[in-house]
Amino acid sequence: MPTFIEKNCAYCSKIVKAGWADKRFCNTVCRSAHHNNSNQEIKKELYRNAAVIKKNELLLRDFFEINKTKDVDRRTVLDLGIDAKYYSKRIFSAHKKLEIIQMVQMCIVIIEDNNFQILPYESACNL
Ligand SMILES: [Zn+2]
Repeated sequence: MPTFIEKNCAYCSKIVKAGWADKRFCNTVCRSAHHNNSNQEIKKELYRNAAVIKKNELLLRDFFEINKTKDVDRRTVLDLGIDAKYYSKRIFSAHKKLEIIQMVQMCIVIIEDNNFQILPYESACNL
């Protein structure tokens, strides 16, 4: 015998009239609408993350082009407005095995705790 428990649809909140205990939606329209909404949230978050990475990339490019230096300390990186929680990947340089935070083409190389270099990807990888 199916167990009937009265509960509300996870999408429209109407009472789910009949079904198994694990039935969450009143019909297939509500079920797919709910899952589309979940996917929309994931997509929105991905777009937000990509937007921060892109902003970080542009800030690093500007710094590198304008200042003509690659050496920076932590304060300088933060003052640029970089949000270092967002990056494309963390990798290690080929020779010195330094940690590299890659945005897109630009990278932050961690030389020491308060000593960084801002470099294009190819240069960073060859350290
Ligand atoms: Zn519903």
